[in-house]
Amino acid sequence: MNALDGFSHDELLRYSRHFLLPQVGVEGQRRLRDASVLVVGAGGLGTPVLQYLAAAGVGKLGVVDFDRVELSNLQRQVIHRTADVGRLKVDSARDAVRALNPDVEVITWDDRLTSANALERIGAFDVVVDGSDNFPTRYLVNDACVLTGTPLVSAAIFRFEGQASVFVTADGPCYRCLHPEPPPPDLVPSCAEGGVLGVLPGIMGSIEALEAIKLITGAGEGLAGRLLLLDALTMKVREVALRRDPACPACGEHRTVTELIDYEAFCGVGSASERGDDEIEPGELRSVLDGDGAPLVVDVRQPHEIAVEPFPDALPIPLDQLAERLAEIDPHRAVVAVCQRGQRSRRAVELLRAAGFGNAKSLRGGMQKWEATSGAAGRPPADAAQK
Ligand SMILES: [Zn+2]
Repeated sequence: MNALDGFSHDELLRYSRHFLLPQVGVEGQRRLRDASVLVVGAGGLGTPVLQYLAAAGVGKLGVVDFDRVELSNLQRQVIHRTADVGRLKVDSARDAVRALNPDVEVITWDDRLTSANALERIGAFDVVVDGSDNFPTRYLVNDACVLTGTPLVSAAIFRFEGQASVFVTADGPCYRCLHPEPPPPDLVPSCAEGGVLGVLPGIMGSIEALEAIKLITGAGEGLAGRLLLLDALTMKVREVALRRDPACPACGEHRTVTELIDYEAFCGVGSASERGDDEIEPGELRSVLDGDGAPLVVDVRQPHEIAVEPFPDALPIPLDQLAERLAEIDPHRAVVAVCQRGQRSRRAVELLRAAGFGNAKSLRGGMQKWEATSGAAGRPPADAAQK
């Protein structure tokens, strides 16, 4: 009986099936009770995460979600009920968790996780489970987990495909080791645009809950260093080995991500005019190119994209080499990064500014806009085949 000290009679009954497992047992259940998990997003993935972690007796659950329950959510976000439509998701999720297990402490935030609040929130929890549905949040959560040393359980779904992994463990990779750069925003349809089979986030979120419990209890072998890929249509599961990338900007040997950045800009979403000062218009660049103090143009496109370098004294450094070739850039000159459409150059500017090139700017709209606005300047029109 001594071994079960500290658990009430009801708790002994509630968690009796855990106590029977040698890999969990009394010690594992104590760890669950003493653990705190932050769940980012109370949607399709967050649903089973919250339900199973609450049922498992995780002592403290944090939930952050700014959204309200919509009728179209209920097909997959089954922690919410029809009567919850219109309520804040965090309120609906908190009520569901409390109804399931009143011993669990629930802390909610009904706003966005941002660069201003993520470190404080994430640093206060033992484990983070990402149930978000967008790339800016994924990179924000990853970087905040790396900076605070908090393990991150991650999953993503699209239509009939799901993937899951565990990042930011002692020797494991982080999300940026797998995806150093976000995909172009116009290539990423959301669930709203692409659709999703309702049960799939239930499966992938359950895998996240399982991995969180394994991290907390130390049971079994976690998904750190492995990416699990599930094709729900064929029910085939594949696994891809992941390694920590020594050149990773977040967790590598020469890390450039030393604080949280503007993740909307990093992922090329949001309104460009909101940011402004990290971009330069083609006309403005033309007006300063020939004068004294002309900026150094760094062309971050891949060599095969550049048929004829449009800027005579440009320094060509592909974006994926920029971090290790910063020494080639004259620190006394203003720098303008250019690429084909103005997305990669914005990422280059993030990197340059983080490395001390405080006035670096990105050519807005890239070479496409530059060439489209060349008109009287007599530059040839864009060659469609080069795109
Ligand atoms: Zn990394």
